[in-house]
Amino acid sequence: MRDVTQGVGREAAYECFDCGNVVDGTNPGTCPECGSTMRNRGTPLE
Ligand SMILES: [Zn+2]
Repeated sequence: MRDVTQGVGREAAYECFDCGNVVDGTNPGTCPECGSTMRNRGTPLE
């Protein structure tokens, strides 16, 4: 049975560049703590 659930129902997490605050769910855009840029932790840094 093939795994076709990739990207479906997977909760994304975003981490703040500045303070390291982590937000689960949809992209907050900016950190709710310090207003800095958030990055998607699920995205490989390549
Ligand atoms: Zn922050």
